[in-house]
Amino acid sequence: MATVVQKFGGTSVATADKIRRAAGRAIAAREAGHHVIVVVSARGQTTDELVDLAHEITSRPSAREMDQLLSTGEQISIALVAMAIHAMGHGAISFTGGQVGLVTDSVHTKARIQKVDVERLKEQFAQGKIVIVAGFQGVDAHQNITTLGRGGSDTTAVALAAAMKMAGEKEIVCEIYTDVDGVYTADPRKVPTARKLDVISYEEMLELASLGAGVMHSRAVEFGKKFDIPIHVRSSLNDSKGTMITKEAASMEGIVVRGAALTRELAKVTIRAVPDTPGVAAKIFHEIAAANIVVDDIIQNISSDGQTDLSFTVAETDADDVADVAHRLAKEIGAGAVEFDKNISKVSIVGVGMRSHTGVAEKMFKALANARINIQMITTSEIKISCIIRRQDAEASLKAVHDAFQLNDEA
Ligand code: ASP
Ligand code: MG
Repeated sequence: MATVVQKFGGTSVATADKIRRAAGRAIAAREAGHHVIVVVSARGQTTDELVDLAHEITSRPSAREMDQLLSTGEQISIALVAMAIHAMGHGAISFTGGQVGLVTDSVHTKARIQKVDVERLKEQFAQGKIVIVAGFQGVDAHQNITTLGRGGSDTTAVALAAAMKMAGEKEIVCEIYTDVDGVYTADPRKVPTARKLDVISYEEMLELASLGAGVMHSRAVEFGKKFDIPIHVRSSLNDSKGTMITKEAASMEGIVVRGAALTRELAKVTIRAVPDTPGVAAKIFHEIAAANIVVDDIIQNISSDGQTDLSFTVAETDADDVADVAHRLAKEIGAGAVEFDKNISKVSIVGVGMRSHTGVAEKMFKALANARINIQMITTSEIKISCIIRRQDAEASLKAVHDAFQLNDEA
């Protein structure tokens, strides 16, 4: 007997029919003798609609009331799934995040989970019931409803799996049911030859998630990694095997590049002739952070004559805000001109095998050169290489590197 956590995303509970299918999967796992937790998201576009509704009332809704509002989407789903299971002749009970003891900090709209109480789950298992839990929400220490950030239901699912493991359950299965059949070597909408992966390590998945490959909420992968909970991402439409996100195994290093990704909408800022003295970079990035702008990659050149050029990238939507800050800073620190390019993208390759293989960067650069794509900036981490390129080359660059590493061939 295992503890099985099944998470169904918004599209997988969008209609009555799909709710019955999800209920059927939970019942099948229960009939196989497992303890079953079902985590559900809000149905279809519900959360987006609730956000729009709030903005019809005010352009600046309070974060606390936003959570109060957005959490209702999941509450609808859990009740409907429980009813569907009842109608099929089985025992089930639904809980909101607060009812199941999922406690978070008080940072509304992006709260972090602090504690999960499994007692209530265990009581229900003892009665043979399937437990349905609302994803994406919890309560803080003062019983205020909080939410975990958009896409947060994945995190609820993995956190519940981790809590059961911590409570001593030996065998944990965590399944994320979605409308795609797994994680691909690249976004199949951009690269039609992309291939579904059988396995990917937590680290690789985290890198891809941070690059905007939006299959999984990255906090969920972090939980999986921390508590070693293998996560099975699979389709709710069929029974085929999806992708296992799991601990890195020695055999994984044989594959140099696991996947490629495109971060399409970026802007680049260059501050020329920045004085090369201690504390200057700290000041620049402190002020940018204070303006709530997240910096993506940073490149500082070797200095000459006590001055250096500093470039960094931000999301294109932050370009105007960052422009104000950069102009002001350049004046304050006595730097030269500030230049902007709002038309850039980033193409990246990710793979744990890079740690032990040479020539990976060269192969990527050659692939881009052969496609006559100019590289503006290069950044690397231990398991990732990224190139900043012109936006108009974005899709072509993704295809070029995907082909170069033969990601479409059966590995
Ligand atoms: N319903 C929430 C959202 O749309 C949470 C989720 O789907 O995971 O962001
Ligand atoms: Mg959703």
